[in-house]
Amino acid sequence: MTIDDAPRDALLRGGPRELLRWVASGAAVSRADLSRLSGLSPSTVSQRVEALINQGLLEETGAGRSRGGRRPRQLAVPTGGAVVGAIDLGAHHARIGTLDLSGRVVQARTLPVSIEDGPEVVLGALLSEVAALAAAPEVIGAASAAGALRGIGIGIPGPVQHTTGRIVSPSRMPGWNGFDVAAFCADRVEVPVIVDNDANLMALGAHRTAHPELDHAVYIKAGTGIGSGVISGGRLHRGAQGSAGDISHCRVVADPAPPCTCGNAGCLEAVASGAALVTALRDQGVPVSDLTGVIRLIDDGDRQATALARQAGRAIGEILAVVVNFFNPQVVAIGGRLADCEPLLASVRATLYERCLPLATQTLLIERVTTGQDVGIMGAAHLVIDHVVAAS
Ligand SMILES: [Zn+2]
Repeated sequence: MTIDDAPRDALLRGGPRELLRWVASGAAVSRADLSRLSGLSPSTVSQRVEALINQGLLEETGAGRSRGGRRPRQLAVPTGGAVVGAIDLGAHHARIGTLDLSGRVVQARTLPVSIEDGPEVVLGALLSEVAALAAAPEVIGAASAAGALRGIGIGIPGPVQHTTGRIVSPSRMPGWNGFDVAAFCADRVEVPVIVDNDANLMALGAHRTAHPELDHAVYIKAGTGIGSGVISGGRLHRGAQGSAGDISHCRVVADPAPPCTCGNAGCLEAVASGAALVTALRDQGVPVSDLTGVIRLIDDGDRQATALARQAGRAIGEILAVVVNFFNPQVVAIGGRLADCEPLLASVRATLYERCLPLATQTLLIERVTTGQDVGIMGAAHLVIDHVVAAS
């Protein structure tokens, strides 16, 4: 242990969340394992394990291997009978699912969505779909439908005031400004509902699956919109109101500076988001209808689309370089649909190496988020699981 690790270990080592995570990841299968990993006394570990078992978050599954003496009972995260629901809302599609209490996907599906239909219609329909998934026979097992669902996590593609679950001044979401997602859902479901923005959910999902051992990470979500989520000291960093990591309206060098939905000009979102690429190509006379069309053109090596993707990558790199110099993360990962565009990713990398302090990039990992299309619902599930564990 380094001196730097000491305060964090003192705070977190062996807390209920960490014990649960060790069992979920397979690092521990017994109380003895947990005692060894945490450095806590066997009696303290037993106390915490009993509390988690009483909450239905851990279960005992028979005998493990004995090292002499009585064979220890094995611990596991229950995989049947209890799930969390997750909704990752996008502009045109929503990924919904149920996940078990270790954060593994049980069922998932993608549904078409028109965000312009407004929050009541969109969220009402998605909540019904999640309830239907949670009531499916493969989820319920021996439990009753009412008892299977432990909570729902929801990701919104716009700024969310985390403490209240209210949406504040989103781009391209007419009718959603000021909408209280948490209160709307609380009227319709009996379980806790936790709301966050989609970039934070991607950050949490990717961090827990790809790099849970790294304490400092920045995740960029580059899709129709653009945003980022920050992991600091191993935890999601939201800031005072929940807007931490929102890089969408940071200004970049662009001439001419395109107008942004926020009323300013030259914002990162107006230059480098998927929506901005669609607009820029249309302005150049290229008949493209959506981001899928743009990505197809880039994949086909279209000159105009590729040049715009490079320009977008440089703009993202410029803002990200400030973030990296300021925050000194161990990993920067790019996700969202634009992360698959090689010219964009190459420009992000080049700009970061050019603009960052050598000390900041010496060991910095720059990579693509590889968790796949379920990364958002995984993050949503972890939000709920952490909440349920904290309340236990
Ligand atoms: Zn703006």
